[in-house]
Amino acid sequence: MLDQIKGLHHVTSMAKDARENNDFFTHKLGLRRVKKTVNFDAPDVYHLYYGDQRGTPGSIMTYFPFPNIGARHAGIGEVGVTAFSVPEGTLPFWQERLQAGGVAGLAAEERFGERRLAFDGPDGDSFALVEQRGDGREPWEKGGVPADDAIRGFHSVSLRLRDGGATEELLKFMGYQRVDRQNGIVRLAIPDGNGADVIDIETIAGGNHADLGAGSVHHVAFAVEDRARQLEVRKALLDTGYQVTPVIDRDYFWAIYFRTPGGVLFEVSTNEPGFDRDEDTAHLGEALKLPKQHAHLRPYLEQHLQPLEG
Ligand code: ZN
Repeated sequence: MLDQIKGLHHVTSMAKDARENNDFFTHKLGLRRVKKTVNFDAPDVYHLYYGDQRGTPGSIMTYFPFPNIGARHAGIGEVGVTAFSVPEGTLPFWQERLQAGGVAGLAAEERFGERRLAFDGPDGDSFALVEQRGDGREPWEKGGVPADDAIRGFHSVSLRLRDGGATEELLKFMGYQRVDRQNGIVRLAIPDGNGADVIDIETIAGGNHADLGAGSVHHVAFAVEDRARQLEVRKALLDTGYQVTPVIDRDYFWAIYFRTPGGVLFEVSTNEPGFDRDEDTAHLGEALKLPKQHAHLRPYLEQHLQPLEG
């Protein structure tokens, strides 16, 4: 069993409209945009990163806004709900705030004894806020949400699978432990994680396979401290029979990717070098940042990418 993985690093989803996406995460949820760059594999669209003050791994929600993308069809073999951690007793504040902001899909829930507020993202993304006692992570304080109420980072993602068994085995191999099981949902958590420690596996016998589109999660990334640990994880996964990509430089972290038995794409990313490697922490996310392989596209991109507030 591996011990290098420390929880979630980031979650990457797809959106239709960059401006709407930016408004939702910065104004409605009060996260900080920590990087404005482009999709390194399709540089004519943005890659937007939202998180806490520094873009701490475990807090980073990222988006590829594809203007021509179709709608998602939720189903099996994908991430179900992406959940953020908020302090205990703050859900009434959030209910009122999100309702006033016209956010759809608001529903109070309880799972594993935790109070949750489900809500939809701008493209029907499935989100929840989960009250957590004693989450010591520092929130972004300048996003218009009082610090006492603000999002601390991720709480969890849920995976919606036809047969969760093989994925549970994989997660245990990656260092997760089963901590609970309720109503057909298996809860796994990583010991000594970064705060974004939980994965829920929902096993659903029937239903269609998901069609990814706007509002779908594209992949889930797990955090390792550095490149040496990433190589250890890569070797262990390869030795176990997974097809893992070579290490790819994403400028703000190094990434490896592999497809899981249930169909969800996993990534393992380094905490180094971080989002302040090419801009001052005080100005994170403000300027359009391009990787050197796409630097020559700047004049075109500055003219064609939708201007974003903030
Ligand atoms: Zn990623």
